[in-house]
Amino acid sequence: MTLAETMCASRRHLDAARRVVVKVGSALLVEQTSGDLCREWLWALADDLAALRAEGKEVIVVSSGAIAVGRQSLGLSRGKLKLEQQQAAAATGQIRLAHAYEEALARHGITVAQVLLTLEDTEERRRHLNARGTLATLLKCGAVPMINENDTVATSEIRFGDNDRLAARVAAMTNADALVLLSDIDGLYSGDPRRDRAARHLPEVEELTPEIEAMAGEAPPGYSSGGMVTKLVAARIATAAGCQMVIADGRRAHPLKALREGARCTWFLSKVEPRAARKKWIAGSLKPAGSLTVDEGAKRALTAGKSLLPAGVLAVEGRFGRGGAVLIRDRKGVEVARGLSAYASDDAARIIGHNSKDIEKLLGYRGREELVHRDDLVLS
Ligand code: GLU
Repeated sequence: MTLAETMCASRRHLDAARRVVVKVGSALLVEQTSGDLCREWLWALADDLAALRAEGKEVIVVSSGAIAVGRQSLGLSRGKLKLEQQQAAAATGQIRLAHAYEEALARHGITVAQVLLTLEDTEERRRHLNARGTLATLLKCGAVPMINENDTVATSEIRFGDNDRLAARVAAMTNADALVLLSDIDGLYSGDPRRDRAARHLPEVEELTPEIEAMAGEAPPGYSSGGMVTKLVAARIATAAGCQMVIADGRRAHPLKALREGARCTWFLSKVEPRAARKKWIAGSLKPAGSLTVDEGAKRALTAGKSLLPAGVLAVEGRFGRGGAVLIRDRKGVEVARGLSAYASDDAARIIGHNSKDIEKLLGYRGREELVHRDDLVLS
């Protein structure tokens, strides 16, 4: 691929994206010897993020760096930290990290919102739905969510351990169209470019074949827990969810601007559309825990692509929690759709047949207007 072609590909993917997730690695943000945050670099990144926002794109940042910054202030010596030490370091480092982003984006009048997630928050349906809802609300309000792993509470079993994967899960969860991994390398090579001079750079990966996987090699030591292995795991998650992913060199100032101007990078292409990928997940891989019977009006609304409101539901069967997978049937028992319920079965039973504006009165809290939102629904 020539420079002009790379530029075209990057422009095309980024121009087409409405929602972009940008992942920032520790090594870019934190000065390796002093443990200080690289403020100038962050301010330049903030300029790039603001430029995306000015084009009407929604931007989510997944940033590492909490452990690297925090370990200095806690006086934790160099070398590999134990899990508890990492968690302690993250607890203090995260404050500085959030503050630095807040300051950098405030210059552009952009509000930053900190969201700390664990693996469970993106896997378990109820929590997934909550996190997804919060992120959607933040984006709607014009804020830039700044996400990191909730290192302090994540035990080894429920840790992502690397923010590449976390960023890919966030991209999948939010139906993002593009995921940019800013790294200390400009993409994927056929071998390790530091050792093998014949290693070839790949500008585009259409499919994650075993040959491609073999190119990743081992994860390098140091601050970044990622390496190419976790980047390919991220590529698998992102592309399966309909999100195009790029690995780009973030070490220069204004890395996103450089990417658009043709900087060398590797794009991992997805053949599916984000919404279609999510719907496939809802339709195929979830076992329904209950069912909702709907009246004719609701059936017509569903077929026309609308959400399911409580008013059109006649009965609730089965026991399920918030975010539970449900079958939606008509009066004759014919399956109309499948979806994720915004209410647990007990609460759903209390609000069916009622207008959405009465939900607060009936349940004592103000939940969603829809029982099943159209984004969480697939027609059968
Ligand atoms: N959550 C960790 C931190 O903020 C980083 C994990 C990673 O480097 O991928 O320090």
